Amino acid sequence: MDRRAFLKRSSLLAGGAVLSPLVACRTTRAPLTNWAGNLRYGTANVHYPASVAEVQDVVRRSRRVRAIGTRHSFNRIADSDDTQISLQRLSRVVSLDRGAKTVTVEGGVTYADLAPYLHANGYALHNLASLPHISVAGACATATHGSGTRNGNLATAVSAIEFVTAAGEVVALSRQRDGDRFDGAVVGLGGLGVVTKLTLDVEPTFDVAQVVYRNLPMSELAANFDEIMSSGYSVSLFTDWTRKNINQVWIKRRADAGDAATIAPEFYGAQLATRNMHPLDDQPPEPFTEQMGVRGAWYDRLPHFKMSFTRSSGAELQSEYFVPIEHAYAAIMALEELHEQMTPHLYISEIRTVAADRLWVSPCYNRACVGLHTTWRPRWDEVMRLLPLIEQQLAPYDAVPHWGKLFTMAPPVLQSRYARIADFRQLLGRYDPHGKFRNDFLARNIYGG
Ligand SMILES: Cc1cc2nc3c(=O)[nH]c(=O)nc-3n(C[C@H](O)[C@H](O)[C@H](O)COP(=O)(O)OP(=O)(O)OC[C@H]3O[C@@H](n4cnc5c(N)ncnc54)[C@H](O)[C@@H]3O)c2cc1C
Repeated sequence: MDRRAFLKRSSLLAGGAVLSPLVACRTTRAPLTNWAGNLRYGTANVHYPASVAEVQDVVRRSRRVRAIGTRHSFNRIADSDDTQISLQRLSRVVSLDRGAKTVTVEGGVTYADLAPYLHANGYALHNLASLPHISVAGACATATHGSGTRNGNLATAVSAIEFVTAAGEVVALSRQRDGDRFDGAVVGLGGLGVVTKLTLDVEPTFDVAQVVYRNLPMSELAANFDEIMSSGYSVSLFTDWTRKNINQVWIKRRADAGDAATIAPEFYGAQLATRNMHPLDDQPPEPFTEQMGVRGAWYDRLPHFKMSFTRSSGAELQSEYFVPIEHAYAAIMALEELHEQMTPHLYISEIRTVAADRLWVSPCYNRACVGLHTTWRPRWDEVMRLLPLIEQQLAPYDAVPHWGKLFTMAPPVLQSRYARIADFRQLLGRYDPHGKFRNDFLARNIYGG
């Protein structure tokens, strides 16, 4: 985005004129697909309200309803057989509170909308996912995360939330006022209601410099996993599982931490890359954020994908499992045993860390985690055959899947790994006593036996 376009976008966002509020609530004719195109939703009845009152109206009139964000989830978590609500016309920055260091946004805002606005005003979020084009509400609903041993998932930045309940009432919860209940609501899986506003913690804006090292022997992770993953503010390991090798290590260091300037030529046996890299060694690096230690704004370095690189769809599938960080190396080696089955079907796997949090159904509730992610070629049958094997390999480490990616884990197993699952069910019941927001995904994974 050039500077003029960016300033125009920022002032539109702050002034609240991105989309005309005069356009009436409307529906689509055909069911939408998710971003990856691996699934078509079960309803063509999609509403695009332009006010909270319109959201309330749609919810009150619907028998069953689910909110959708930017549809980047790979499973049916956002699906409905009746009605969907997209808040893409509710995508304004509501307020920036410099005293409280918070920003309040409407439920349709994406990180790509928000990040340049914050930076222009001197602020930053603590972290971002691999791409910024996802909605804040949709990302927080599934505990979407970036990397960094000290960085909680993106939902940990939420300090207040407003949503429309099944009865069509507007409820506001805040971290300060509502304590434990708030912790249950933030990663809500879309089950508590339609989130119309979120307040996020912000901090002074910062620069990040990114470097990439190539070919780190996996054996180095045995004794040095913590040091390697703490060598920057955010660290990602990419592997295709061949040769017991980490193909690339991406280290994102904050310039204000003072360590961004020194770039060693070698890192635990890996060699500094001498050009910008794509996580797949032989692919062109243009879609990816600048590397080679060049400083840039946080939102232009913390995601892997550039903000200007917007893909409206993608031919890939994704899965991810979280295990407690103390089992990181054992879990990685357990997956390595499957390399012959996995490698032919994947683009790349990525290993990241996420700090512990207090959000009831976050995979990192009360435990710092390592996320073992795989971007698969779009081969549904092969991937669905592999996921049970992966789940079996990771079972000794109490693995739980990403709520927005593919998995096959039996619901009782999944539920047994969430200490607060019963509390979460109760919370869902409080705001949605008759299951208006309960789709097949929730019925199976949260309630199913
Ligand atoms: C290319 C790609 C890269 C990705 N990278 C990462 C990554 O780095 N880290 C990571 O953790 N995940 C990643 N993901 C997964 C993605 O972040 C999650 O699936 C996320 O939930 C997608 O957000 P969304 O806005 O598309 O939500 P959707 O997929 O549309 O919806 C997800 C959930 O949010 C709920 N929801 C959405 N909006 C609202 C609302 N207003 N009110 C209530 N509920 C709502 C939906 O009901 C649903 O339950 C990636 C996905 C893709 C396609």
